Amino acid sequence: MIPPIANNFVAGEDSDTALAHVEELNRQGIGAILNLLGEHYEERAGADADADAYVELVEELAGRDLDACVSVKPSQIGLDVSAAVFEENLARIVDAADCFVWIDMEDHETTDVTLDAYERHAVETDGRVGLCTQANLKRTPDDLERLAPLPGKVRLVKGAYDEPKAIAHKQKARVDEAYRDCLRYMFEAFEGGVAVGSHDPAMIDLAADLHAEHGTDYEVQMLMGVREDAQAELAASGVEVNQYIPYGSKWFQYFYRRVRERKENALFALRAVLS
Ligand code: FAD
Repeated sequence: MIPPIANNFVAGEDSDTALAHVEELNRQGIGAILNLLGEHYEERAGADADADAYVELVEELAGRDLDACVSVKPSQIGLDVSAAVFEENLARIVDAADCFVWIDMEDHETTDVTLDAYERHAVETDGRVGLCTQANLKRTPDDLERLAPLPGKVRLVKGAYDEPKAIAHKQKARVDEAYRDCLRYMFEAFEGGVAVGSHDPAMIDLAADLHAEHGTDYEVQMLMGVREDAQAELAASGVEVNQYIPYGSKWFQYFYRRVRERKENALFALRAVLS
């Protein structure tokens, strides 16, 4: 069982508990992006098993009246085994889904194959898939130009991977500047809308300004357990908000990462343990 403190960041160990969280969230006017925790399978069996779980999940979602979609990690569904296994499993999930399917972006060695897979499915499904792009990568402005004319949706994040200096902005201020530049381009060029994957109030304010200037639709995506008051406030003010909800038996590593990345999260965890 997941201890209550980890439960702030992870919805549960199985899809039933995750879906109960989605129901609660939908009542607050917030949509859900479900992510089964798991990554870097080197054997095909693990990747196929998680792809099976996603197929079951999207089939379950098709029978329920929920505002929910899924987000998958390429290495979870086979990219470390081979590009062919990843593409086969992604196609199975997309084919089975009525809902939107997001593709998370992992480290820079996976960018090209992930972009190619997204492009194919964006065209084939007429835009029922989305892709995450990372502002810290120097290549991202060029990638956004390639993605702009495609159907589908793009989530812009700052980037969670420690990438080499030659290909990535390393200083926080420089990453923030790159994020702003990418967001400005997206509001100008992406007719299908923009997904702002950030907890940063400055980026969310900029998105609101750009929406006022260009009229482009946008949504804000934040993680479960992070700035949930802001999520509720934004949703109440009429902004589309979607919460990224991890669940599954591999919760410990994810929880540990959340606690380590911010002093506030560590203090929050400590307070919960002491109380
Ligand atoms: P930061 O630059 O970390 O922080 C900026 C400001 O935001 C802070 O000063 C603070 O005011 C506020 N803030 C941030 N975190 C907190 C907190 N815990 N509590 C309170 N305030 C906070 N990365 C990938 O590489 N690939 C992915 O596929 C991917 N998918 C993502 C999906 C979603 C929905 C989200 C939200 C993030 C995703 N990320 C992904 C992670 C992303 O790259 C960043 O590492 C992460 O979001 C931190 O950057 P930030 O923009 O939120 O803000």
